[in-house]
Amino acid sequence: PKYVYRFSEGDKDQKDLLGGKGANLAEMTRLDLPVPPGFTITTDACRAYLASGEVPEELSVQVTTALRGVEEELGRELGAAEDPLLVSVRSGAKFSMPGMMETVLNIGLNDVSVQGLAAASSDERFAWDSYRRLIQMFGKTVLDIDGDHFSDALDAKKDARGVSMDYELPVDALQELVEEYKAIVKEHAGIDFPQDPRSQLDMATEAVFRSWNTERAHIYRRREKIPHDLGTAVNVCTMVFGNMGETSGTGVCFTRDPSTGRTGVYGDYLVNAQGEDVVAGIRNTLSLADLERLDKASYDELRSIMRRLETHYRDLCDIEFTIERGKLWMLQTRVGKRTAAAAFRVATQLVDEKLITMDEALTRVSGEQLTQLMFPQFDDDSSRDLLTRAMAASPGAAVGYIAFDNDEAVSRAEKGDSVILVRRETNPDDLPGMVAAAGVLTARGGKTSHAAVVARGMGKTCVCGAEALEVDSAAKTLRIAGRDEVLTSEDIIAIDGTTGEVFLGEVGVVDSPVMTYLRRGLDEALKAAGDDDTRELVTAVDRLMGHADEVRRLEVRANADTPDDARHAIHRGAQGVGLCRTEHMFLGERKQFVQNLILASSEVEREAALAALLPLQKGDFIQMFETMNGKPMTVRLIDPPLHEFLPDLTELSVKVAVDRERGELDPADEELLAVVRKSHEANPMLGLRGVRLLLTMPGLIELQVRAIAEAAVERLKAGGDPHPEIMIPLIGSVRELQLARERVEHVLQEVSQASGYALDFPVGCMIELPRAAVTSAHVAEEADFFSFGTNDLTQTTWGFSRDDVEGSFVGRYIDDGIFGVSPFETIDADGVGGMVRLGVEGGRSTKPTMKMGVCGEHGGDPESIGFFHRVGLNYVSCSPFRVPVARLEAGRAAV
Ligand code: ADP
Ligand code: MG
Ligand code: MG
Repeated sequence: PKYVYRFSEGDKDQKDLLGGKGANLAEMTRLDLPVPPGFTITTDACRAYLASGEVPEELSVQVTTALRGVEEELGRELGAAEDPLLVSVRSGAKFSMPGMMETVLNIGLNDVSVQGLAAASSDERFAWDSYRRLIQMFGKTVLDIDGDHFSDALDAKKDARGVSMDYELPVDALQELVEEYKAIVKEHAGIDFPQDPRSQLDMATEAVFRSWNTERAHIYRRREKIPHDLGTAVNVCTMVFGNMGETSGTGVCFTRDPSTGRTGVYGDYLVNAQGEDVVAGIRNTLSLADLERLDKASYDELRSIMRRLETHYRDLCDIEFTIERGKLWMLQTRVGKRTAAAAFRVATQLVDEKLITMDEALTRVSGEQLTQLMFPQFDDDSSRDLLTRAMAASPGAAVGYIAFDNDEAVSRAEKGDSVILVRRETNPDDLPGMVAAAGVLTARGGKTSHAAVVARGMGKTCVCGAEALEVDSAAKTLRIAGRDEVLTSEDIIAIDGTTGEVFLGEVGVVDSPVMTYLRRGLDEALKAAGDDDTRELVTAVDRLMGHADEVRRLEVRANADTPDDARHAIHRGAQGVGLCRTEHMFLGERKQFVQNLILASSEVEREAALAALLPLQKGDFIQMFETMNGKPMTVRLIDPPLHEFLPDLTELSVKVAVDRERGELDPADEELLAVVRKSHEANPMLGLRGVRLLLTMPGLIELQVRAIAEAAVERLKAGGDPHPEIMIPLIGSVRELQLARERVEHVLQEVSQASGYALDFPVGCMIELPRAAVTSAHVAEEADFFSFGTNDLTQTTWGFSRDDVEGSFVGRYIDDGIFGVSPFETIDADGVGGMVRLGVEGGRSTKPTMKMGVCGEHGGDPESIGFFHRVGLNYVSCSPFRVPVARLEAGRAAV
C-alpha cells in the first residue's frame, strides 16, 4: 500500500487517510500558500503498526523516497554537516485532538549538524538552543523520560547564570546544557541520544503512532465520542524557525473571534519563539495588531491568506504560522473550534456574506451547542466580590470549590461537589481534572492556550491568563495580588467565562439571553440584551430555529405530566404532549385511595375507592386540557408496578413485627403486609405493570378513561378544544390491546351518550417490547397510533435493566468498544433501532398513514433524532427543556 503522500499529492477531503492536519497542509500546498515542504505518513500505516507492533516494511522505503524528494526540492539534506535540513514530526488524527499527541521539532540536529545550523543561520545561540530543545522533546515524548529532569536542569542553569528567561542563556551555557541533557537521556533511557538523523525520524514516527494509545488520548476520545480504531497520521514537515531573533516569531490566529463569533481577525503572536511556546501559554503574547506594527509585510500577507482560507473553506479557520526572518510560513489550518455562541453567529454571518446557504448554516450548529446557550448566567443584581478579571476563554457561569490538582478535582466531583480547577497553566495531563470540574481557571496563557482550547471543545466554562492569581499547587493555596486572604480548597469561587470575571463566594444565576429568547420571544430578548453581540446572537438563533422549523418533517412534542411542564414545553415550541404520565396522579396524599382500591374486599369498597379518585384525576386532566388547548396530548394509562403505591416490604415487615412484640399490632397493617407480600416481585419492571395491571385490576381502566372523557366534556362545554390520545403501555400481544381498547371505548361511549358530545379519541399503544415490534403488523389492527418507548425497548432488547447496568459495566463496555456510547443516551441504531424499524414497517404495512412517534430520553438526543427522522417517525417527544434542541436537530436531520 501507499503509506506516504507528499503534501503536494493530497487534499482536504482525505482526512481519513492523511488526518486533519495532513489533509489541510496538502490543501494549502495545492492553493500555493507558503507551506514548508513535507510529507504525510497515513493512518493506514499507524493502524498496521498498532495491529502488529512493528513498522510496516514498505514504509521505510517510501519515507526514504519522499524525504529525498523534499531534500532535492530544497537542495539540503536531513541532518547534514552543512546547512542541514531539519524536520518536525507531527501527529494529526482525523479529528483534532488538541494537545493529545506529541510533536517533535528540530529532528536532524546532532553534534555535527548543530555546527552546520550555526554557520548557516550565523546564529550560534539559536542553533544550540534548537539542539537542546530537540533532546528535551525527544527525551520526553519519544523516550518517555519525565520532563521534569530536563526543566529542572534548565532552571538550574538559569540560576547558575543569574538569568530568568530561557533566551538569556548564552551559547556556552546552552552547550553545557546539551551535554547535561545527553547525560539525562543516557541515565533514564539507557541509550545514547541518537545521533543518526534518520533514526531520530523513525523513532519519532513510531512514538507518534504509539501516542494514539496513551491514556489521555483514550479519555479525550471517549469524551468526544471519537472511535478508538482510527489511528493517527504523521506529518513530517521542513522546519522553519520563529526563534531566529527579533524579525522572527510564531503565532496562532482565527479568521473570526472563536469565543464570541465577532467578525474581524483574532490571534496571538510571540516574537522570537518556537512552536509550542504560544500554545503552552508560557509567555504572555502580543496581538495581531502588534504584528502589524512590527512587520507590516508579513501581517498583510497573513491577512490576505486568512481571507483566502475562509472563502475557500467557507468557514471560520484557525491557523498556525511562523515568521522566519521576515518570511511568513503556514504550518497548519483547520476549520476552527468555536464556542456555541460563535457557531450560531458565524453560521448566519456566512449566509449573509453569501458563502453558504441557510440549509448549510443549519449543519454548522448543533443541538448540543444550543443546550450550552441555554445554561444560566450570573445575575447582575446578585452581590459579588470581584477578585480579578482575566481572559474570557469559554463562556458559561461556574461556581464551585477550588481544586488545585486533578486528583482533588476528580475525587471531590465524585463526591458530588462542584469544583473549579485552578492551575497556573494546564497541560494535557490535566484532562481528567478538566472533565470533572465545572470550570477551569488559569493564571497564565491566552485564548489559544491549552486550557482555553480544550475547555471550548468541551463546552466547559474557562477563564485564563488571570495574572493576579498566585497559585501554589503544592501548598494548595491561592492568593490574589493586592488582597490579603489566602484561599484554600474550602473556599468557593465563581468564574464567568463570558466576561472573564472571577468572584469570591457564590454568585446567583439568571436566564441566558437565548433562554430569554426561548421563553419570551425575540422582541423581549432583544430588549433585554445588553449589547450588540448579544443582539446578534439571539437574532442568529431565531433565524436558525425558524429555518429548522420550516424544513423539518418531524413534529416535536414534549413529555409533560403537569400543566407547568406543559406550559414550559409550549413556550419552547412544542406542538403537543407526546407523553403525559398518569402515575403521579396516584401519589402523595392520593396513595391512600390507591391502597384502599388494592385492599378492597368487596364491590362496595372498591366503588368507594374509585369514586374518591375520579374527581381528583378529572381535575388534573381539565387543567392539562386547558393548557394544551387545541394541541394533541397523549395520555398514557398507568404504567408502573403496584408496589410503587404500597409501603416498602421490609419497612412494613419490621413495623408489624415490632408492633406485635409490643402488643400494639394494628390488624389493618397486618392485612396490608399480606398484600404487599403477595404483590412483591423479584423483578418488578418485568412484572405486573402496564397493560397487565390495567387488564387484571378491576375498574382501573374505567376510572382513568372516565376521568379523561369527563374532563374533555367539561372543556368542550366551556368552549375548549381538548385532544387527548389514549395510550396503553407495555403491550406484547395484539390481544392485550384489543381487550384494553374494548374497555376504553365502552367508557368513551357511555360518557359520550350521557353528555351528547362525540368523543372519538384515538387509542394507541406503546411499542416497548420486542414482541410488540415483531408483531407490529398485527398490533396495528387495534392501534390508531404507535409510540416507541425506547427506554424500555432498550432494556428489553438488550435484556438488562438500566438501573443496574449504568453504574456497573457500561463504562467498561464503552472502553471495550461493545457500545459506542451508552445505549440509554443515544439509540443503539442497529439493535434497538432495528426493533423500531420493524415496528414502523409492520405498522405501516397495515395502516400506511399511521402516526408514529417516540417518547423517552432518546427523543431529545441529537444523534437519535437523526435516526428517528430517517426511520420515518412523525414526531419525537422529549423533556420540555430539550424541545428547542429537538426542533433544531429535526431541522438538521432534514437538510
Ligand atoms: P498540535 O497538534 O499540538 O497543534 P503541531 O504539530 O501543530 O501540534 O505542532 C506544535 C507546534 O509546533 C505548532 O504550534 C507549530 O507552530 C510548531 N511546529 C510544528 N512543525 C513545525 C515546523 N516544521 N516548523 C516550525 N514550527 C513547527
Ligand atoms: Mg501537540
Ligand atoms: Mg498545531
